[in-house]
Amino acid sequence: MSDFSFDVADVLVVGGGPVGWACALAAQIALGKRARVAVVERELSHPSAADQAEPTLASRVYTISSGNLRWLTEHGVKFDLARSAAVTDIVVSGRDGQESMRISANDAGEAELAKVLEHEALTLAISTRAQALGVQKVHGTVASLHDLDGQKLIELADRRMLNARLVIAADGMQSKLRDLSGISATAIVRSYPQQGVVAHLLCAQPHRGAARQWFLPDGTILALLPLPDVDQTAAVSMVWSVSEARADQLCTLSEADFLDAVNSASQHAAAATHRINSAQRFPLTLVRVANPVAERLVVVGDAAHAVHPLAGQGVNLGLVDARVLHDVWQHADKVGADPGHALLLGRYRRERFGPTLAMQLATDGLFRLYNQADHPFLMAAGDAGMRLLGRLPAFRRTLSTAAAQ
Ligand SMILES: Cc1cc2nc3c(=O)[nH]c(=O)nc-3n(C[C@H](O)[C@H](O)[C@H](O)COP(=O)(O)OP(=O)(O)OC[C@H]3O[C@@H](n4cnc5c(N)ncnc54)[C@H](O)[C@@H]3O)c2cc1C
Repeated sequence: MSDFSFDVADVLVVGGGPVGWACALAAQIALGKRARVAVVERELSHPSAADQAEPTLASRVYTISSGNLRWLTEHGVKFDLARSAAVTDIVVSGRDGQESMRISANDAGEAELAKVLEHEALTLAISTRAQALGVQKVHGTVASLHDLDGQKLIELADRRMLNARLVIAADGMQSKLRDLSGISATAIVRSYPQQGVVAHLLCAQPHRGAARQWFLPDGTILALLPLPDVDQTAAVSMVWSVSEARADQLCTLSEADFLDAVNSASQHAAAATHRINSAQRFPLTLVRVANPVAERLVVVGDAAHAVHPLAGQGVNLGLVDARVLHDVWQHADKVGADPGHALLLGRYRRERFGPTLAMQLATDGLFRLYNQADHPFLMAAGDAGMRLLGRLPAFRRTLSTAAAQ
């Protein structure tokens, strides 16, 4: 891994997840090849080409919207499509098991709404393109942040120091930079009383490009996302948002009991026959910042707005952060080619405020509506409302366009 080879970075991204690399790519493209852009990541081999040599898909996969994929491919990011599957429909069922809403790519005039991609494949594809354009990768853990004459100074845990005109904090939901910058003081960071249990499953029924989701009577939310066939057999990726106690139980069930649980919750829609990998669990956290911008610093991705995975939008929101930064940096020449100028960061804040808040309120609201096992009438009202809305073509069109953005 190369080290920091310039005195002052124009843009220094902290966090080499998919969003951090997308922001670095956006900076190098928008500010030109002479711009000094670097990504600091604490994990040494992250992401690694070796992951992509593995025949089994990695356990965490994302539905990446067509709009985000288009933006990435237009900027030269190449994906291994053999390891991805297209989502053409999103089918939502309420606690009565009835289909309450179907969102189709057709409604948005698109061939597909999204593609399902592995976390590692996505991150590797973006970082490979960014580094080919000149972005530097620095291995290190950010320990402290200081102001210094119109610049930021970052100190790494091994005492190395890095200067930057703009710091992008893309260091995930437990963001240290959010704390160091003072942005956490007015942020909401709350653990959901649920964890995400994920596993890949082989199925007897083909998925036909449908991402399916069930809001179940016990308040848990089950999603089955399309995967590419495995040895000519249909496969799906399961994300089941459940209480911690249920996550403990699911992760220790035998394969047969696990498949029984999934099949009965999903009314045998996929008819899962095998579990490809062991079940894993992830904490679910809500992060909402009042303002993602501080002097010469922007918080992006999960560090600024982690959401419940029920809408599959977490990483998509972060990729839109990168696209909007790319757009505001187009005007950098008007402010002395300064990527951290307050005028540009103010524009970024205004553009991202509404859409981010809307997605956070929608996912958190849906979670609360359906996490009411003690108030079944509220859940029933949610089912009925969703069915009613699902019948309105204009509403479906709006949702399908939003899902593909
Ligand atoms: C169960 C589950 C399922 C999900 N499913 C979906 C889905 O279907 N679709 C979707 O869009 N999203 C989904 N998400 C959300 C998705 O995982 C996140 O939105 C995404 O990982 C955020 O990317 P990021 O780059 O902001 O942060 P991260 O991926 O968390 O990356 C942060 C990076 O920063 C590095 N880092 C942290 N601190 C430091 C430091 N001090 N110094 C240096 N480096 C540091 C970390 O090592 C890490 O590499 C899901 C999440 C969960 C939990």
